[in-house]
Amino acid sequence: MMKIIDGKKISNQIKEEIKIEVDQIIKKGGRAPHLAAVVVGNDGASLTYVGSKVRSCEQVGFNSTLVKLNENISQDTLLKKIQELNNNDEIDGFIVQLPLPKHINEEKILMAVSPNKDVDGFHPTNFGKMALNMETFISATPYGIIELIRRYKIDTTGKNTVVIGRSNIVGRPISILMSRKGNPGDSTVTLVHSRTKNLESFTKNADIIISALGVPNFINSSMVKQGVVIIDVGITRVKDESSPKGYVIKGDVHFESVKEKASHITPVPGGVGPMTIAMLLKNTLLSKSLKK
Ligand code: NAD
Repeated sequence: MMKIIDGKKISNQIKEEIKIEVDQIIKKGGRAPHLAAVVVGNDGASLTYVGSKVRSCEQVGFNSTLVKLNENISQDTLLKKIQELNNNDEIDGFIVQLPLPKHINEEKILMAVSPNKDVDGFHPTNFGKMALNMETFISATPYGIIELIRRYKIDTTGKNTVVIGRSNIVGRPISILMSRKGNPGDSTVTLVHSRTKNLESFTKNADIIISALGVPNFINSSMVKQGVVIIDVGITRVKDESSPKGYVIKGDVHFESVKEKASHITPVPGGVGPMTIAMLLKNTLLSKSLKK
């Protein structure tokens, strides 16, 4: 029986669990965890993402601060803002919404975020700790994938896991997490990317496919085997005049045909997407608890 992995349901469960912990902190006279988000410019998608992060904070009883900065802000001024957030004891964690305008060096900005407040897990210190299996902030999207696998009790031990895409925020970290000791983990991982030859030969033998490339319908049913587990991370806006927004969201996987062969599959939207915010909140709660 094929199972649809319901990321919306799981993310709501996680938010409820977080809310219970926040209520307990407050009952004991503590203060609520506080997440800040920095957004530069007026990019529609970025503002949407940040907006829903702030709303989710309210849902679980966190404090939140939205730092909205002008598109033309200089790199130095942005760095100063980041120092202020690093030094503000009331803030447990913060994120800098990407992408940043072209005149700003993204790497420099991400390096300036204190590893203790880097709830996105993008700082090399946290990425390194993740790779070494030490407690740290794991980037929200890969962390969300791991949590879906855990909560659906999908066995990953000794399985052939194929990760498609090698980005710093999804493909690379999830490939490391799936090969770490433990469950989820203990997989035999193959990381395929744009330079891979005969990609199908890898996907056809995969027990688990985690796709993070951003090409709609890239994976069709002839590329997968019976019983495969499909985690579709792709989010692409595809023009569609018949929908009210003028576009629809598509994943990397041709859902209708692949679901016939899959044992588990994430839909898009409603799969990995909603998990990202839940895990960001979880990291912020962890940051607060590590400070004590
Ligand atoms: P990216 O866009 O930085 O890179 C894409 C990767 O795909 C590259 O590593 C490239 O090597 C690989 N690739 C491209 N074309 C390929 C091909 N034809 N064959 C094999 N590999 C190919 O990656 P990203 O930032 O990880 O984003 C990937 C997708 O995931 C996007 O659709 C993005 O919107 C989505 N995404 C979703 C979430 C979420 O659900 N919360 C978070 C981050 C990214």
